[in-house]
Amino acid sequence: MRRSIYDEDHEAFRSSVKEFLDRQVIPNLDEHASEKAMPRELWLEAGRQGFLGLEIPEQYGGAEAGDYRFNAVLTEELAKVNMALPSCIGIHADIVAPYLVHLTNEEQRERWLPGFCTGELLTAIGMTEPSGGSDLAGLKTTAVKDGDTFVLNGSKTFITNGYSADMVVVAARTAPEKKARGISLFGVEAGMEGFSRGRKLDKVGQPESDTAELFFEDVRVPEANLIGELDTGFIHMMTFLPQERLGSAVTNISHAAQILEETIEYCKDRKAFGQSIGNFQHNKFLLAELVTQVEVCQAFVDNAVLEHCDGKLTAIGAAKAKWWSSQVQNEVLDHCVQLHGGYGFMNEYRVARAWQDARVTKIWAGSNEIMKELIGRDLGF
Ligand SMILES: Cc1cc2nc3c(=O)[nH]c(=O)nc-3n(C[C@H](O)[C@H](O)[C@H](O)COP(=O)(O)OP(=O)(O)OC[C@H]3O[C@@H](n4cnc5c(N)ncnc54)[C@H](O)[C@@H]3O)c2cc1C
Repeated sequence: MRRSIYDEDHEAFRSSVKEFLDRQVIPNLDEHASEKAMPRELWLEAGRQGFLGLEIPEQYGGAEAGDYRFNAVLTEELAKVNMALPSCIGIHADIVAPYLVHLTNEEQRERWLPGFCTGELLTAIGMTEPSGGSDLAGLKTTAVKDGDTFVLNGSKTFITNGYSADMVVVAARTAPEKKARGISLFGVEAGMEGFSRGRKLDKVGQPESDTAELFFEDVRVPEANLIGELDTGFIHMMTFLPQERLGSAVTNISHAAQILEETIEYCKDRKAFGQSIGNFQHNKFLLAELVTQVEVCQAFVDNAVLEHCDGKLTAIGAAKAKWWSSQVQNEVLDHCVQLHGGYGFMNEYRVARAWQDARVTKIWAGSNEIMKELIGRDLGF
């Protein structure tokens, strides 16, 4: 199906992303997987190419694109390679960026944004805690005011870029009695005394991404590192979560479409009983269903992207795009594995790795159950 949300500028940008991936990323993926992280040199190159600062004002070194479709193009191309890339780069360039652009003061922008654009200041966001991620309002990490610092105690887990990040946007409780209205955000910088990280976590998929636990033991965070207003962190997170969920949807459907395309080629080449396996009516009909599912989902996600560009994407619209795209992605990839037969279970086959990589999309960025909870509440229940 022809897509109409992008124009020539977006497609030119897509070509530059593809070239970067072909030359700098794809040849080194095995190394990234064994290191469980993307090397800093790759971040710096992404910065030089202008991929990290799409949302950042020009005066701080960004592109100030003012058009989310450029983020979407970047995300789509990264997802076609694997799921770890849009996860790591997306957390920095797509998810943390709005916090640093819209909630910071001038001093913070000057301090953080130039390095953010070049890749010298790699970021992460720490919301989830070992005791729970779905119930964000119940988070337990505390930040207690003491003079002109906040003393931070607690821990975070499953934090993407957590091991390598130079700065983590951390959600902490500043007013215990106020629950959701007692949470604030802080820029916790590498090297702050009492801030430590656990090992890189061993995941079922996405071995190329760095995912870590973070620990805060009496970390003195200067008041100057408070991001946004005191006690309004929960509202800030709710404001930016739709963009996070939209980015997740863009990733999911692009990834599924790419692996399905590769699977269709496989079904043309692979022979059984003297013919291509795609010619068996069961498989032909299955592929017809999968292609339709992907295209219908793509149309919904494209519409959500356009709504976001117009400032009209609601939290409910983003929740629908997130859960549905991850459901479609996982169903499609499961069938793709099946169509590859035994090869589909071999790690050296892209389809096997893609299937492992995709499983988390029903869990992260707000689990699918939480997405349905939000949608259900909006129906009046
Ligand atoms: C690879 C990876 C990367 C991640 N990156 C980050 C990151 O960078 N930053 C960050 O902050 N977090 C990150 N996360 C955390 C992720 O967002 C959480 O795992 C997710 O929000 C779920 O939280 P939880 O794991 O604590 O599960 P829980 O909240 O304990 O939920 C467990 C189960 O109960 C269900 N459940 C919970 N509440 C309800 C309800 N009300 N109704 C129905 N079902 C419910 C959930 O859907 C889930 O199935 C990452 C996770 C992974 C796996």
